[in-house]
Amino acid sequence: MKVHEYQAKEFFASYGLPVNPSVVCRTPEEAVAAYEKLGAPTVVVKAQVHTGGRGKAGGVKLAHNEREVREKAEAILGMEIKGFLVDRVMVVPAADIESEYYVSFVIDRKSKSSLMMLSRAGGMDIEAVAKETPEKIVKIPVDPLLGMPDYLAREAAFALFDDMAQVKQAVPLFQRLYRLFVEKDASLAEINPLIKTKDGSLKAIDAKMTFDENALYRHPDVFALFEPTADERKEQEAKEKGFSYVNLGGDIGCMVNGAGLAMATMDMIKFYGGNPANFLDIGGSSNPTKIVEAMKLLLSDKHVKVVLINIFGGITRCDDVAQGLIEAFQLIDIDLPIVIRLTGTNEREGRELLKGRKFHIATTMDEAGRMAVELSKNA
Ligand code: GDP
Ligand code: MN
Repeated sequence: MKVHEYQAKEFFASYGLPVNPSVVCRTPEEAVAAYEKLGAPTVVVKAQVHTGGRGKAGGVKLAHNEREVREKAEAILGMEIKGFLVDRVMVVPAADIESEYYVSFVIDRKSKSSLMMLSRAGGMDIEAVAKETPEKIVKIPVDPLLGMPDYLAREAAFALFDDMAQVKQAVPLFQRLYRLFVEKDASLAEINPLIKTKDGSLKAIDAKMTFDENALYRHPDVFALFEPTADERKEQEAKEKGFSYVNLGGDIGCMVNGAGLAMATMDMIKFYGGNPANFLDIGGSSNPTKIVEAMKLLLSDKHVKVVLINIFGGITRCDDVAQGLIEAFQLIDIDLPIVIRLTGTNEREGRELLKGRKFHIATTMDEAGRMAVELSKNA
């Protein structure tokens, strides 16, 4: 889950990290009022969107007076950056930059720990630095049991600074950033750039944090900042109904019970040259209302041309599932071809019930995949 820079900076401030006080604004008038309130002669007006590279896209502008603040805010509000509409800007006193650095913490599966990344080539696109000049990035794995003791924070500080004046500031800064990263179950905490000002002090002038969705239940303060995209909203609604749904962009809508079977179904579709529209695990039970809900979710994706239902009847018997499907499809209007494959307890009885209706009935997984892909090509 992503948050905006101004929100990440609030977390930064609450952990004692050096950030300038900022005001978030939704209109040019609010930006002007913020300028007056901050009382700094020069401010930066910054687009607040869930993507980086705002500077390059023209979403970060300096302003030296009231008129400029209004102009820049007018220009940035309503702008689109990488498909994200700017509906908020941050107004913040400008910092006097001498040099820019990069620091972040991420979860590293390879070392099974947090990984600290540092670079003296800050302010730039870090992916480009990693690709073209990987030697400019220092990586320090952080043992979760040891955390960030002073010696490790000092080692990290010396990777960026030669002068003790900055090293002394960097040590607590890194320790606090690490603590924030761990305590909020973040998957990323990044400062790019961390700057050294002309008077030698360190400051975070950008802040980026993403959070592990699976840990949001224990961070209501983070979850409160959730601004889902249309796709994320759908996934969230599905979760609340007890489904697990992920949009995949293809045209074969899949309704499957069990995550493993759902993944195998995607594989089968791909194997026959088709494209799944989604991953959808409806869990157990043959309850028609649940099937109707799942179908509605599936059909809300306008790219779906074929529906493939692949159900394994274990505890839930296939004839019950068939009955549930029949009832469900009496409640929803659908012109699309529907392929059904039932397997497991009472599968023959289940198939018998479905015969003579508008369904395409497959016996094996293979047949179901082939049928669905063929129908999707002809649709
Ligand atoms: P991003 O492009 O989305 O990563 O946005 P940043 O917040 O990193 O800003 C982009 C660039 O704008 C920075 O690398 C700086 O060079 C510049 N910038 C941002 N804030 C300030 C500031 O307070 N003063 C000055 N002089 N430049 C700034
Ligand atoms: Mn940045």
